[in-house]
Amino acid sequence: MGRAQYILTIRVPLICDLLVMTKLPPSVRFWQRGWHNANHVLLLGGEGPVLVDTGGDEDGAVLLKMMQAEGVAAAALRLIVNTHAHWDHCGGNQAIQAASGAPIAANPLAAAWFAQQERYLTWLDYFAVPFTYTPAGLIWQDGDEVQLGELVWQVIAIPGHAPDAIALYQPEHKLLISADALHLNDCGIINVAVHGWEALDAAAATTARLQQLEIALALPGHGPLITDAAASLERIASMLAGFRADPEKLHRHLVRRVFIATLLGQQPISRSALLAWMLHLPWTSDYLPTTGYPNAAAQLHDLLHTFIQQGIVIEQNGLLTCTVPR
Ligand SMILES: [Zn+2]
Repeated sequence: MGRAQYILTIRVPLICDLLVMTKLPPSVRFWQRGWHNANHVLLLGGEGPVLVDTGGDEDGAVLLKMMQAEGVAAAALRLIVNTHAHWDHCGGNQAIQAASGAPIAANPLAAAWFAQQERYLTWLDYFAVPFTYTPAGLIWQDGDEVQLGELVWQVIAIPGHAPDAIALYQPEHKLLISADALHLNDCGIINVAVHGWEALDAAAATTARLQQLEIALALPGHGPLITDAAASLERIASMLAGFRADPEKLHRHLVRRVFIATLLGQQPISRSALLAWMLHLPWTSDYLPTTGYPNAAAQLHDLLHTFIQQGIVIEQNGLLTCTVPR
């Protein structure tokens, strides 16, 4: 993945983003966060506010402040929805539920994993993330229609990036809350080491299914709102086909993103401590080294050098931090 495309997916909100926001119905609020905290959607009206995804910070403090700024007291929240069981989407569950008492809705697989405190299939052990799941009180199946705020949304299973993932589609306004199946010109990583190569087939099938929908605006799990979902989906379809033809492409896509996500979780951190930390995580032995490197450490060094050159990572006083929004 080239630099231009990477930067495109991590840009901070611009005037054009604010103009795109005006295309949302007033009852739908989209909050773009970063790559450690997934985006949030707040659905207002009806029987009370509904929050989709709670980010990665377990204290939920920033999110509670964002809700207050929208005039939504925590106690008024009616429901929390998790698009899938990755910690960057459900990290704030415990804090938000403690403040609101709202139940959590998720797909059956995510609900089972919450109940079992599953750590491998949700990547917690894979990326060494400490975490405690909060049980889901509502289980949603593919095809369910749910009243969220003032609008009715369709639940769509979107396996691939995560087997338990769901999207929400609102047909009148043609809105898609797309989680990590559809980002701007990209999708969430496909972790074939954990889920097998069938995850890539599932992602391709999900992309094809989303291509059948009329989408005026997509609200992704990371990155900005997407006005041309068809173009992004076409790009994802061709990227996934490229992964099938050349697994090295899948590895590079995953390693770049996981490197940044890992740094965001550890920063500020010295170069040696970061690389030592990464080298003991399973993803480095599963996805490194790729062709042309003598070992995993050499590739990580090279990748870090590239990120520093690109301004994506900065090193100051011997400590690394990321310029990508957290
Ligand atoms: Zn995810």
